[in-house]
Amino acid sequence: MTSTSDSVLETKLAEVRPCPQCGQTATDLMQRIVYVRVQCFTHGCEHRGPWEPTVDDAIAAWNALAHAETL
Ligand SMILES: [Zn+2]
Repeated sequence: MTSTSDSVLETKLAEVRPCPQCGQTATDLMQRIVYVRVQCFTHGCEHRGPWEPTVDDAIAAWNALAHAETL
């Protein structure tokens, strides 16, 4: 596993807004070697946020998408 604990990620996920495309909260963080993004896991939606270098950036980018969609 990585050095990022599950409890930290759960705390981070509490900051993630519902999916801007389907409105569901079935989102999770997808982590790769150097990038992370938020992805919706609702069947038929699977909306994806942009890849970002940190969890905080990924959540901020996703929330910006959600905010733009609800204006
Ligand atoms: Zn969705």
